[in-house]
Amino acid sequence: MHGAAELQAAREQLVMYSARLVDDGLAVGAAGNMSVRLGESVVITPSGIGYHELVPADICVLTLDGDEVEAQEMPSSELPMHLAVYAATNAGAVVHTHSAEVIALSAVCDELPAIHYAITGLGGPVRVASYTRFGSAGLAEAAVKALEDRRAAILQNHGAICYGRTLPEAYDRALLLEWLARVYRLARSYGEPRILSAAELAEVAAEARRRRYGERRR
Ligand SMILES: [Zn+2]
Repeated sequence: MHGAAELQAAREQLVMYSARLVDDGLAVGAAGNMSVRLGESVVITPSGIGYHELVPADICVLTLDGDEVEAQEMPSSELPMHLAVYAATNAGAVVHTHSAEVIALSAVCDELPAIHYAITGLGGPVRVASYTRFGSAGLAEAAVKALEDRRAAILQNHGAICYGRTLPEAYDRALLLEWLARVYRLARSYGEPRILSAAELAEVAAEARRRRYGERRR
């Protein structure tokens, strides 16, 4: 369950991060969308409203099954994909982008390989889900499959989807994913890049865990 104050905070946070989506170059116009889970509700951006015009009252509230609770506008067309991610993961927030680097990569590659160790923050090399029409149940299914053991996936000829415990965490992952795709493209422009091995990635993940535990003990 959640209170009115918590819901209002989620609406305001979605409006703020929607504006950032455009400013950070992760989407243009009204493309892309994001949501937050509050208990048994999903709070999601509406369809077709330019991000800089968006106000908290435009944000839609639905149940985890997609039934409208409070929606003055049409919910995002990618609602099925958001609901599928909440059903399949422990996500507290989902961010869907139409960012240039990942879309360019998706048209050529089957995955974003481990060009930098920061990719462990996304769970490892990021899969590219085969193209399926926007808003379709097939896209929701393909996204969830590509997200297995990952916190990010690339959608072929479309964009990306990332999740986190909170909206800031999901959003930072979307930024990280776009940066990794850019680094990979730059490396490819020099020649055949060296890619981190599974053992090297496991070592990074173990060290990151160890250091976090150390901070908590202090
Ligand atoms: Zn999209």
